[in-house]
Amino acid sequence: MIPYSELSPDAQIEILEGRLAIVKDLCKGCYFCIEFCPKHVLAVSKDFNKKGYHPPAVKEAMACSNCKLCEYYCPEFAIYTPAGSEKKKAKPKPAPGVVGGAS
Ligand code: SF4
Ligand code: SF4
Repeated sequence: MIPYSELSPDAQIEILEGRLAIVKDLCKGCYFCIEFCPKHVLAVSKDFNKKGYHPPAVKEAMACSNCKLCEYYCPEFAIYTPAGSEKKKAKPKPAPGVVGGAS
């Protein structure tokens, strides 16, 4: 995968608490990300990007569930959840008597 820094070296990137990144200058203003976000995290910003569109902005930061729908729907790869931003899941403990489990 091409790093975003190579796609748009001077792009403005908004990072939402390590969970969501918006590369504003890649956005073409389709608003799929806003329409399909189940948590209503995003809204149309008042800012213009280099293409003359209003990119999305975060309005409800704490509501983001890191579901990645915005990333899947964006046709311009302008919004994504950075690697490692998912909450770590606890490893299930092996049952007693199983190899590697409690004895
Ligand atoms: S889906 Fe992508 S291109 Fe469309 S408004 Fe959202 S960030 Fe911009
Ligand atoms: S990751 Fe999911 S909840 Fe968070 S902004 Fe994107 S679509 Fe909304």
